[in-house]
Amino acid sequence: MARYSKGKWTNWAGNQVSRPHHIHRPNDEEQLAGIVQRAAAEGRTVKPVGTGHSFTATATTSGHLIRLDDMGSLSHVDRANATVTVGAGITIDALNNVLHGLGLALPNLGDIAYQTISGAIATSTHGTGRHLTGLAGQVKRLRLVDGTGRVHDLGPEHGDVFQAARVNVGALGIVSEYTLGVVPAFRLQAQEGARKLDDLLENLDSLVDGNDHFEFFWLPHTPWALTKRNNRTDDPVPPRTPVDRARHWWSKTFIENIGFGALCEIGRRRPSLIPRLATALPSSGQSTYVNDSFRIYASKRIVKFLEMEYSIPREHCAEALSRIRSMIDTHGHLVSFPVEVRFTAADDITLSTAHGRESAYIAVHMYKGTPWPVAERYFRDVEEILASYSGRPHWGKLHFRSAGDLAPLYPKWGSFIGARNELDPQRVFANDYTRQVFGD
Ligand SMILES: Cc1cc2nc3c(=O)[nH]c(=O)nc-3n(C[C@H](O)[C@H](O)[C@H](O)COP(=O)(O)OP(=O)(O)OC[C@H]3O[C@@H](n4cnc5c(N)ncnc54)[C@H](O)[C@@H]3O)c2cc1C
Repeated sequence: MARYSKGKWTNWAGNQVSRPHHIHRPNDEEQLAGIVQRAAAEGRTVKPVGTGHSFTATATTSGHLIRLDDMGSLSHVDRANATVTVGAGITIDALNNVLHGLGLALPNLGDIAYQTISGAIATSTHGTGRHLTGLAGQVKRLRLVDGTGRVHDLGPEHGDVFQAARVNVGALGIVSEYTLGVVPAFRLQAQEGARKLDDLLENLDSLVDGNDHFEFFWLPHTPWALTKRNNRTDDPVPPRTPVDRARHWWSKTFIENIGFGALCEIGRRRPSLIPRLATALPSSGQSTYVNDSFRIYASKRIVKFLEMEYSIPREHCAEALSRIRSMIDTHGHLVSFPVEVRFTAADDITLSTAHGRESAYIAVHMYKGTPWPVAERYFRDVEEILASYSGRPHWGKLHFRSAGDLAPLYPKWGSFIGARNELDPQRVFANDYTRQVFGD
């Protein structure tokens, strides 16, 4: 979670810090609108924040910081239309539990559930699944307080403004409430195991097309990748004995977090050991298990890191990854974190990173505490490769692109800027990041 201490805000990764003029925790939309109106009258900026899980400066502010922690409850369930309406400050974890109690679920999720639904949707957060979009694809309606404090109830009938507001990068206003599409609760069978990267890349299409959710983690400096295949099942969740629970803790908490963290720390102190440590990188081995969908999607993340992720057209995935592998060797990068690869369907949301194309997502990480020049060199080298496939950076993960690079990547860029001019003409929601990516 983000940290609040003595008026200072720090994001989860610890690489972004704000000293806001004032921190607010409104209880309802009216209070929220009042804060925006007063700030606009004072000529100050406003920034809504979630749980600070973005690595970019997207949630930073020297103006009024708004926490929506007290605006996160479920207000309506519409079973006939398969939607629920929730306050924008709800965390994904809380939402998952509320939905589960109602026999409902979100169809797809990313790999953690600590974020707020609004922060996740604002940055085009996604999971994996060839037939499934990112979280913003579930937004059926939303309520947004604009830069003058006016409230808009937006749905598909609002055309371009609605499509812009779904992935809004915190730049159009403050979403107070979402109506989200949901599905009946379901279970997944997870199959995890190691596979040679070359073999995996040769069979990539059948793995992506043949599973509901396929992803893999290539271990740099080794020929190995860890694969995850999650598929819907009617099998029940088996009762878990104390031994099962201990085994689960061993593989998911001890091996994947504590053991992995220890190896990363050794690698940080002695980088030359990283290639050798990589061959011992912990994997929980082959395992198959069944659980409720949301418990399979989300994992624990104890080890801190910095991350960059790009979406590219799916058909270039194998080639791009092979180029990254060669580049790591030829440039001598020492990388202790796996490279994560996921897939989603195309969508029609203006600034979704999967707008108009089936996408592969390639994410690279550096252990927290790695000297920034070392991490930066790696991220820039990977960015150069992924940008060459018209890659689009995740709005919440590190990148070095600015408005001039980004505009040509989004066919409806102009309509987003038009919506911004309409909803926030005074740039009340501006910060350093909006200046970088939208170029005021
Ligand atoms: C460990 C870890 C794992 C992650 N896993 C994934 C993953 O699997 N898939 C993926 O795609 N991403 C992933 N991310 C990235 C993460 O989902 C995004 O950065 C997301 O934006 C974080 O949500 P948040 O609640 O922390 O929002 P913040 O980072 O606090 O804010 C993000 C943006 O949302 C805006 N915002 C927040 N609330 C509102 C609101 N009410 N109205 C308008 N704008 C608002 C903020 O102003 C800001 O621009 C991961 C990040 C971490 C640290």
